[in-house]
Amino acid sequence: MDNLQLDFLGDLKRTHTCGDLRASDAGKRALVMGWVHRRRDLGGVIFIHLRDRYGVTQLVFHENVAPEVHARAEALGGEYVIAAEGVVEARSAETINPAIPTGEVEIAVSRIWILNESRVPPFPLEETVDVKEDVRLKYRYVDLRRPHMQRNILMRSKVSLAVREVLYGLGFLEIETPFMTKSTPEGARDFLVPSRVQHGMFYALPQSPQIFKQLLMVSGFDKYFQIVRCFRDEDLRADRQYEFTQIDLEMSFPQQETIFGVIEPLVQKVCETAGHPVPAAPFQRMSYADAIRLYGIDKPDLRLPPMTSFEFEFQGFQTPMPFVAIRIPGIGKPSRKERDELKLIAQEKSLVMFDEGSKTEAMYAAAREKSGAAADDMILVVAHTGPMRSWRPEEAFYQSCGQFRLHVGQKFAERHKLLDPHNFKFLWVVDFPMFEWDDEENRWAAAHHPFTSVHDEDLKRLTSDPGACRAKSYDLVLNGTELGSGSIRIHRKDVQAKVFAALGFSDEDARKKFGYLLEGLEYGAPPHGGIALGLDRLVMIMAGESSIREVIPFPKTARGTDLMSDCPSPANERTLRELGIKLASKV
Ligand code: ASP
Repeated sequence: MDNLQLDFLGDLKRTHTCGDLRASDAGKRALVMGWVHRRRDLGGVIFIHLRDRYGVTQLVFHENVAPEVHARAEALGGEYVIAAEGVVEARSAETINPAIPTGEVEIAVSRIWILNESRVPPFPLEETVDVKEDVRLKYRYVDLRRPHMQRNILMRSKVSLAVREVLYGLGFLEIETPFMTKSTPEGARDFLVPSRVQHGMFYALPQSPQIFKQLLMVSGFDKYFQIVRCFRDEDLRADRQYEFTQIDLEMSFPQQETIFGVIEPLVQKVCETAGHPVPAAPFQRMSYADAIRLYGIDKPDLRLPPMTSFEFEFQGFQTPMPFVAIRIPGIGKPSRKERDELKLIAQEKSLVMFDEGSKTEAMYAAAREKSGAAADDMILVVAHTGPMRSWRPEEAFYQSCGQFRLHVGQKFAERHKLLDPHNFKFLWVVDFPMFEWDDEENRWAAAHHPFTSVHDEDLKRLTSDPGACRAKSYDLVLNGTELGSGSIRIHRKDVQAKVFAALGFSDEDARKKFGYLLEGLEYGAPPHGGIALGLDRLVMIMAGESSIREVIPFPKTARGTDLMSDCPSPANERTLRELGIKLASKV
């Protein structure tokens, strides 16, 4: 490596990418540039697979034809960057490589430029090699060369383009909103940016552009969208990052259906772009109440059947709740061992799972009949035991059943191919409750965010019975994952004030936090509403991945660290002084 003579790019121009050449190009001169993917040295002949993001092209170096060029090719290592020029030659029938689109040709190289060398990569780029994620993240620029990462990043770009095409086509304007803002209420912690000029003052990075997009409606830009980074300081998981990207939009004068009428074609186009079957629209709609009763969750996975509740008298068994049958189609009865395991899981969720046997024959017969089970469907009957500690006990019970249902589904999913990731079941969940009781804070909290409209007929019980109020909010759900949420907003100041009051904000609190929105509402705010979809999750599902880190070029670890740049990292004394910040403890 030490004595390697490197060449300048000079005025070299590539004529083709490494994915371009075909048999019909035989006889042409070609100049390609890329990375040495693989090198085979057969003595007098060297073969190199040259790679760029478009593909791989085979280069041949013959010692007897161009000895100097051949000698330079001998010095090349993996991932060196070169340019090579030569004549495109058709390969003989037995050397054609059907695995790559350029496999019918090769370039007989007559000139070579070595543009850069490379250290031995920290891991092989072959997809078949399993590499630990922290090593991949430390050398992300190398990891991004691997085929599935190239594919995912390409897909992400194409999906973004498709989103823009659909929304521009529908007359939306792409408008930017600030990153240095006042706190927005999406329920997570803010990331703060200290002000150098005003010590003790902070900007918050936006958890979403919520307030700005609403104010854009006040300004009359009646269809806004943005593919925008949002920042939330919450614990990271496979589908969460501190910074993530939303497809954020807002419209003036919409009905709920108007928003759905934008998102459905958008999602259809995304599926088409990603090479998946286009889902039929309109997507299914389900109320929150039904989702909880039938699936025990507000983001049902429709690939498994719903639960069935039924009343049953069983040997004096006491419960205020119905019995619930969980059905998994076509997988027969569980083994004794599986049953025992499931019983323990049920117990953890304050449920009792009944064995199917002579004593429970009638119960199981009722469950089979009520759930419309076929002979080879697996049925499990559960009921509630133990104390109810919730302000909505029925909901809590169904949620336990729903968790149990998901556990059962996942337990058998792989063996019985129950959850086909390509079977996209989109669903709108609508009519969410307006408020949730926050046990810790001992007060009502907004279930979506505090700018969400309440159903017109629930407006009168906003203060008398907040728990019963339904919101004009909706979630888009795909196979058990929430892809996005939105709502029709409050556009009147008096209604907004009532909602703040129900949430326990004093007038002064509300003014301090969102005064600029409240004031904006006083200047002719039109009725408006919108939604935001998570781009990372959408692309993750389209790419068949199970973590959003696989579709984000430079993600952070679960501890919020960027292993490549080694951040977060301490700030130097001077910077802190300028910001007026003194650390309570030394790092
Ligand atoms: N701002 C909301 C969110 O980030 C989405 C919306 O209501 O449009 O979840």
